[in-house]
Amino acid sequence: MMIQMPYGAQEILEKLNSHGFEAYIVGGCVRDSLLGAKPKDWDITTSAKPEEVKSLFGRTIDTGIQHGTVTIMRGKQGYEVTTYRIDGEYEDKRRPKTVAFTSSLEEDLKRRDFTINAMAYSHRDGLIDIFGGANDIKEGRIRCVGTAVERFTEDALRILRALRFSAQLGFVIEESTWNGLKKIGPNLAYVSKERIQTELTKLLLSPHPNQIRQVFACGLESYLSPAFARLAPEVLFIDPSLPSWKYLRWASCLKEQSPQEGAEVLKELKMDNDTICKVKLLVQMCHEPIGLSPADVRRAMGQMTEELFDSLLLLKRSMKGIEETESSRLRELDEIRQLSQEIRLRGDCINLKMLAVTGSDLIAWGMKPGKEVGETLNRLLDYVLQHPEQNQKDILLEYLQ
Ligand code: ATP
Ligand code: MG
Repeated sequence: MMIQMPYGAQEILEKLNSHGFEAYIVGGCVRDSLLGAKPKDWDITTSAKPEEVKSLFGRTIDTGIQHGTVTIMRGKQGYEVTTYRIDGEYEDKRRPKTVAFTSSLEEDLKRRDFTINAMAYSHRDGLIDIFGGANDIKEGRIRCVGTAVERFTEDALRILRALRFSAQLGFVIEESTWNGLKKIGPNLAYVSKERIQTELTKLLLSPHPNQIRQVFACGLESYLSPAFARLAPEVLFIDPSLPSWKYLRWASCLKEQSPQEGAEVLKELKMDNDTICKVKLLVQMCHEPIGLSPADVRRAMGQMTEELFDSLLLLKRSMKGIEETESSRLRELDEIRQLSQEIRLRGDCINLKMLAVTGSDLIAWGMKPGKEVGETLNRLLDYVLQHPEQNQKDILLEYLQ
């Protein structure tokens, strides 16, 4: 068995080897290579201590030096090189208080979460697979390294990682891992909301976003956040053909909530504000009919960016309607999409920013500064949404008289 790795990784392994150290690519990149997928990054594990790694390689970055990780740049690509380690006692049910370096690869692999993530490889030694990870990949199975209850007790985030990997890879969770995860679920209350959010987001962006229901199947929802626990799993449906965009997948997940409730879920999970705003708008707009007239379509387009409007149409398309009216609903959405493309091509005015008259124009024209200016601009916009060809300053000022 041979894994293709980038030249930079190979070079780093060889250099460490030539100075008498062991070194392997490890974790996600080995897993993805065995799956025939392209790894995102190439992590390296070595018997060399961080100081030894640093002295061997000129340009290094102390990314996680207290945990034994140094980054080595090769061209534009950074490689994280981590010294073999054993995780110490777990302090906050989340990360080890201390780490101890070890000279044993096996010890380093033992601390990893799942068998599929606990394999190492080098051209020199081939695949190092102590826990049957390759077989679990073949069988499509997520299984803890060692005893599930112990591993989840050390670090409760692994519970969500199990669900996330199962959604990303389409794998089943092996029985004792599943039982362990249900049993230790309450420890998720100790895990930071940001970390929970990151895992849920990865799960939603995966090819099997509906696996989010597993959270409810294991009764974990109330340990994630109070607002998340109010989601109804029966009506949760995320169309897997939706693009893998964070705000769109979350909007699809939260579309049966009120916009406020949806935003509350994301706030509790410490989501960034930009995403919260987009999700809130989509969740609100996806239940409101757009209308089929060009003016209706312009009005809807004017309330958001182009990208968000396209997302809104995709989200609406993904929502199940009543069966008898389904084909006409989809036909209407196609019509709206067609209209929106024409509107963009023509550059029709859709919002106040595109209106040919501004507030200062109105004041120069003789209007007193104040409420009336805004109201008039909105009235003009209403008119122009119906008659885009009339969006010219002289025409509009004349219209006001
Ligand atoms: P991804 O494709 O999401 O990056 P990954 O497997 O590379 O997947 P990382 O979070 O980047 O995941 O972690 C790298 C490796 O570190 C994992 O493959 C696993 O061996 C180990 N690891 C990461 N998080 C944990 C954890 N919470 N408990 C035990 N081992 C972990
Ligand atoms: Mg990774």
